[in-house]
Amino acid sequence: MRDTLVLNASFEPLSTVTLNRAVVLVLQDKAVVEQAHPGLRVRAATVVLPVPRVIRLCRYVRVPFRRQAPWSRRGVLIRDQHRCAYCGRRATTVDHVVPRSRGGADSWLNTVASCAEDNHRKADRTPEQAGMPLLKEPFVPSPADAMLLSLRAGERTELPGWLAAVQPAA
Ligand SMILES: [Zn+2]
Repeated sequence: MRDTLVLNASFEPLSTVTLNRAVVLVLQDKAVVEQAHPGLRVRAATVVLPVPRVIRLCRYVRVPFRRQAPWSRRGVLIRDQHRCAYCGRRATTVDHVVPRSRGGADSWLNTVASCAEDNHRKADRTPEQAGMPLLKEPFVPSPADAMLLSLRAGERTELPGWLAAVQPAA
């Protein structure tokens, strides 16, 4: 299922919702479609709509408290731009800096993208023990980063300029 990015009335990225939820928000006049998937249509009740990629809420929603981005393996790969933290080549796996067997957590600061080879080589050791220093320290993405992480990374370049500007710093 494609996720739809939800913008506040102020154009600030808020969250992502399922396509179904996005369509309901538009049908209820709570949001407008800002950007649609070209050529795709969705049938809802008696109307046919473009498939929304980005919708914007009609009324401004106050966000009192910004949560940390939820951790996910996919999110780590996207945060690290699919680059191995140990050798810089293309990464397809997620490595726990402190191995889980040693109490290492599933968290942004304890996980990095890794190529399968290095993940296997590092095995059940810390970077120090394995003699494999990290090329870049892991970081916790901001909520705005996370909104974009939840879109497919490859689609980011298609976003309008004002959104592309919110991309996480490299
Ligand atoms: Zn590697």
